[in-house]
Amino acid sequence: MNKKTDNEIDQKFLKKIEKQLLKKYDEIKKVGEAYQDQLDEKLPEDSKEALNLKQAQDLAESIEGMEQNELALIVQALKRITDGTFGVCLDCGQSIPVERIKAIPYAENCVKCKAKKEEEEE
Ligand SMILES: [Zn+2]
Repeated sequence: MNKKTDNEIDQKFLKKIEKQLLKKYDEIKKVGEAYQDQLDEKLPEDSKEALNLKQAQDLAESIEGMEQNELALIVQALKRITDGTFGVCLDCGQSIPVERIKAIPYAENCVKCKAKKEEEEE
């Protein structure tokens, strides 16, 4: 018998999210490391290649920046699971809808606050 608990966060759901976050954390770390290895292997032979390498490095750095950001969000989310504050919007304190957590397990804000933040950033 499956009791539907789609609108509340229970321990089972938390465990599932925690697993997802840890998996994602590993994936991002691996991708970042593989990328770094690739860059290290490709040393420039002449200035043209050096330029390309420079561009590749810039790209890698921006990707790394995003990954670092995502990693940080994942770490924060894992911390909130431990603290027991997971699933609550950091800005307004309202519960983040389960559907949103399913889509973005490390979401820090409810949809309303997120939209407001994005507006302010523009
Ligand atoms: Zn909010």
